[in-house]
Amino acid sequence: MFRECPHCHIRVWPNADGICPSCQRDVFDLKDVDPDKSSLVIRRSSRMPEVCIDCGLPTSRLTKIVSYGSRTVQGMMIPEEGWMSLAVVMALFLGWIVVPFRLLRGVDPRARGRVSVKLKLRVPQCKSCSIHKIEPLYVNWESATVKFVVHKRFKSRFLDLNPP
Ligand SMILES: [Zn+2]
Ligand SMILES: [Zn+2]
Repeated sequence: MFRECPHCHIRVWPNADGICPSCQRDVFDLKDVDPDKSSLVIRRSSRMPEVCIDCGLPTSRLTKIVSYGSRTVQGMMIPEEGWMSLAVVMALFLGWIVVPFRLLRGVDPRARGRVSVKLKLRVPQCKSCSIHKIEPLYVNWESATVKFVVHKRFKSRFLDLNPP
């Protein structure tokens, strides 16, 4: 059965001995598990509570997180010519906006291509926790969502503001 590994927070199918295929640790051994941590999917438009993502204490400080990756784009031909593809990629870099129409003349609406993208998020993190870099657990580029390991108090306040 699929379950979230308590050590690496990835959804896995543990083997018969209960070993997580991702981190090789025992999913039933909760000895070193931080009971205050859980995983949470955050989207760019999510409303953030004023609670630190790491320690769950009140904070109004925000930390910027930038991830780089690629995503499939429908209806947009990525031309071979250097300057054109650069223009398309640059336009997507500026927040996944619509590429200027002029550049898209002659585009095949059925064409699919992969383009480089950048996803920026601001999440609450207090000053004392800011010595730790926040690393996303997983970025879903198609839906522009990011999965993090967060404090449970942050998660419950987050879910109050962003009902699933
Ligand atoms: Zn694991
Ligand atoms: Zn904190």
